[in-house]
Amino acid sequence: MKGKRSGAGAWLVTAIWGLNAIGLVGVLAGVTFFTNRQGPVRTPEPRALQLSMAGTPSATSPPGIRYLPSVTPNPLTTPIEAYNTPTPFVLPQGPRPIVIGYSISGRPLEVYKFGQGERQVMIAAGIHGGYEWNTIALADELITYVNENPEIIPSDVTLFILRNINPDGDARAHTIEGRVNDHGVDLNRNFPENWQAEWDRDGCWDYAPTTGGSSPGSEKETRAVMNFLSSRNVEALISYHSAALGVFPGGEPWEEESIELAKALSKATGYPYPPIDTGCYYTGTLADYAVSLGAAAVDMELRNHRDTDFPRNLKALKVLLEWGK
Ligand SMILES: [Zn+2]
Repeated sequence: MKGKRSGAGAWLVTAIWGLNAIGLVGVLAGVTFFTNRQGPVRTPEPRALQLSMAGTPSATSPPGIRYLPSVTPNPLTTPIEAYNTPTPFVLPQGPRPIVIGYSISGRPLEVYKFGQGERQVMIAAGIHGGYEWNTIALADELITYVNENPEIIPSDVTLFILRNINPDGDARAHTIEGRVNDHGVDLNRNFPENWQAEWDRDGCWDYAPTTGGSSPGSEKETRAVMNFLSSRNVEALISYHSAALGVFPGGEPWEEESIELAKALSKATGYPYPPIDTGCYYTGTLADYAVSLGAAAVDMELRNHRDTDFPRNLKALKVLLEWGK
């Protein structure tokens, strides 16, 4: 993970991020295509508009609010217009989310809880906001699936799904500009474990300005996740990203149990393990923080910036639910 890149390494990094950029262009082309196809007659439904306005969140939102606004919709119900017409994700029947905190701009961070067992496992998505919006779409698909198939949760397990850690970035743009929070901080660099404000960009994502924050855990979103994790006993955690690099165990150096989890997830999904080494040294990550609390944790990357890879990640969910047995 550490170290300077050779000439070949530099080429590899350029190629990898180049592929990411190509994927992004594909997403934008798709959005343009569908937007044009739907034509100008398709106007936002007044109810949706009213909901998003009425639901404008703030840090003082009453805890009992029913329709908590969020930006990435459930792709099962609103597959295309979602891009231009943000729709709250709401389970028609099922548990209400636990709001664990708010973003800088007052959007809620929502955790869905399934099962009542002692062994706690967790999925977290959207830490890189709109740039990796398909991780949020995946979380919504998983929430919907688990809600409709509760029998997949073993009786001794509780599953938490945090659908969107960075809702402000998701609301800003589904492009490079959507990666950071509203302070311009990369939230996956802001956790207190191995924290650095700045890092050597050699081999790292470097397509827009970003920092690790003014101090460890300086961001509201980060602190909300820290408060949640430190007050629970999560034994295994997947933090979703995109795209394509593989499954990264948490810990510095990589922690033993997290390596085992990464291997098991790679086997189930086909995502690469060991992950592709671009030479980037990752600081202040959520996975490292979760490991510091005693969890097995990984950063896991979807194949591209567009698809949710649902069948693969249903297998990943089953690995997570069986973890530690
Ligand atoms: Zn990411």
